[in-house]
Amino acid sequence: VNLDKELRESILNENWLLLYQPKLDIKTNVIVGVEALIRWKHPIRGILSPYEFIEFAEQRGLISAIGDWVIKTACIQIQSWITQGIDCKISVNVSAMQLKEEDFSGRLIRTLIAHGIPPRQFELELTESTLMNNFDIALPCLKRLNSSGIKIAIDDFGTGYSSLGYLKNLPISILKIDRIFIKDICNDANDKQIVQALINMAHSLNMKVIAEGVEETDQLELLKAYNCDEIQGYLLSKPITSEEITVMLSKPSHLKIN
Ligand code: C2E
Ligand code: MG
Ligand code: MG
Repeated sequence: VNLDKELRESILNENWLLLYQPKLDIKTNVIVGVEALIRWKHPIRGILSPYEFIEFAEQRGLISAIGDWVIKTACIQIQSWITQGIDCKISVNVSAMQLKEEDFSGRLIRTLIAHGIPPRQFELELTESTLMNNFDIALPCLKRLNSSGIKIAIDDFGTGYSSLGYLKNLPISILKIDRIFIKDICNDANDKQIVQALINMAHSLNMKVIAEGVEETDQLELLKAYNCDEIQGYLLSKPITSEEITVMLSKPSHLKIN
């Protein structure tokens, strides 16, 4: 009931925290990127997960204001890494409503330029349903972003409607396989087949593949055998603070799992 009022206040006060979860290139064993994941620093209830407020913020038309803060904060973070000589990409999750904003792509490109960030260091993550339900708006927007050098990833792949038509029509560079297929991959023969098929399909469409939610070494070994490109998950690290991830990125010896 108060959520709307609390969210609006938090937008004004910027009561957010941006955590970062590393992505490991499993061919080189190097952390090549991080995903930015928002938390709400709620004045009474403490740190809240995005599952507790993103959907509500979308319904109330508040997600764009929050998304702007995420993009700005991610840009300040990369800018700071560049000055420290750290080479790392950031990916940011984007809601459908943000894509529908007037000149979203133009504003994003100008924000990157203003912070001196090469577009290749910035990626956007969109879910299948976001892309599918907003195809006509998404297409020109993503084309503009892609031609400026910003890469687009499909998030939670395999959990939405999975109409594969958009894969060939939208400029998508990265496919993120959802955790539900990874969870039981070591025991479930169907998951093994699905994941191998997804990796092969993505590669033949010239896309890079990231497996989400990798928690165990055995899962990593299988994904290596299947020629997956990158992994993300608790095996490597939970989402951590700016300070923690910066330490991780500046000590190459910490980048190795095995
Ligand atoms: P996502 O983009 O698919 O992010 C992955 C989620 O899985 C994150 O949850 C992450 O903490 C969690 N995760 C990562 N590795 C593991 C693992 O090994 N095991 C398990 N069990 N979970 C793992 P989180 O941070 O709670 O974020 C949830 C969702 O909220 C995200 O899913 C994304 O869709 C959305 N979200 C997060 N930040 C933003 C944002 O800034 N804007 C928008 N629009 N949505 C966001
Ligand atoms: Mg994501
Ligand atoms: Mg995901």
